[in-house]
This record gives sequence, C-alpha cells and structure tokens, in this order.
Amino acid sequence: MDLSRLNISGDWHNDTGTLEKFSRDMSAYRILPALVVEPQNEEDVRNTIQFTRNEGLSIVPRSGGSDLSGASIGPGIILNFKKHLNRLVVIGEETIVQPGMILANLVNQLNAHNLRNPGGRAQCRSFTLNLPPTGTGPRLCLPARNQTII
Ligand SMILES: Cc1cc2nc3c(=O)[nH]c(=O)nc-3n(C[C@H](O)[C@H](O)[C@H](O)COP(=O)(O)OP(=O)(O)OC[C@H]3O[C@@H](n4cnc5c(N)ncnc54)[C@H](O)[C@@H]3O)c2cc1C
Repeated sequence: MDLSRLNISGDWHNDTGTLEKFSRDMSAYRILPALVVEPQNEEDVRNTIQFTRNEGLSIVPRSGGSDLSGASIGPGIILNFKKHLNRLVVIGEETIVQPGMILANLVNQLNAHNLRNPGGRAQCRSFTLNLPPTGTGPRLCLPARNQTII
C-alpha cells in the first residue's frame, strides 16, 4: 500500500494498537484491517474511496461500531466517521447530521435548535444507523418552526 498517495486532511493509522482496536465491533468476530482512516470532510471520503480503488482494497464505513454481526469490521480500510464527522450542522432551515454523530449527543443538541428525533434507541450508536424503519426520509426529525433533518 502506497500511503503517499492517500491525500487527506484527516488522520490515518496503521499502528498495531489502532488496527487491533478496529478489528472488533460488538460481534464475536475479529478481522484485522490494513488501515484506519478518520476523514475530516467529504473530500477526504472521496479521496479515500479513490485510494481503495487504486490499491484494490475493501472499505468499511464505521461510526458507533455497535454492529452485532461483524458488519463494521473488514480486512481493508475502516473509514471511522466518529472522530471528526460527528456534529450537527444547522444552516438556515437545513439541518445536517454528520454520519459519526452519536445519538445521545444529537438528542442533546437538537433541543437547543427546537428540534426533536422521534426514533431513539441505543444511545451509543450513530444517528445515521438509527433510522427507524417507518421514519426514514427527509422529515425524519419532526420539526418545530418548519425545520427538518435531512
Ligand atoms: C447492547 C446493544 C443493543 C442493541 N440493540 C439494538 C436494538 O434494539 N435494535 C437494533 O436495531 N439494533 C440494536 N443493536 C445493534 C446496533 O446498535 C445496530 O447495528 C446499530 O444500528 C449500529 O450502529 P453504529 O452506528 O454502531 O454502526 P456501526 O456498527 O459502526 O456500523 C454498522 C453497519 O453500518 C455501516 N455504516 C456505518 N456508518 C455508515 C455510514 N455513514 N454510511 C454507510 N454505512 C455505514 C457499517 O459499515 C456497518 O455495515 C444493539 C447493539 C448493542 C451492542
């Protein structure tokens, strides 16, 4: 793997301790990844995907790592959203939940914006993976003052 071709502003790790940490989720399985990438922004995500294509590696997005079936581990790159892309971004009427935002933090911050999330389950996992089966779509979070979560 030619890491000089991984052009990101976020972090990457290939030390034994980090690889070991991300070799497990909440399942009984263990797969040691080749690299852990922690993107700062969307461009980092795009560049990392391009890097995996060039290097012939698999990629597994990860946020809470609370998956019970081994779906958040893999032998290629683990794309860890939880480190940097973990915020609520409110721009006018539009509210964006970044993919690594943990549900407990979301609920706290929504209150400040007079928004609420109708589907609350395990507090340790990300909002992205907590979409209730009948509640997905552009109006997932019930708005006050015409605001929506998308
Ligand atoms: C104690 C406990 C109780 C639980 N109870 C329930 C329950 O009651 N109901 C229930 O449904 N589940 C439950 N789960 C399962 C677990 O919480 C869910 O699988 C959860 O949705 C995973 O969310 P996560 O953010 O931790 O995702 P991760 O474990 O990080 O990832 C899960 C999957 O989503 C993918 N993924 C992660 N982020 C992204 C992204 N941004 N874009 C695309 N793909 C992504 C990963 O590659 C992986 O395949 C429980 C788990 C635990 C440990």
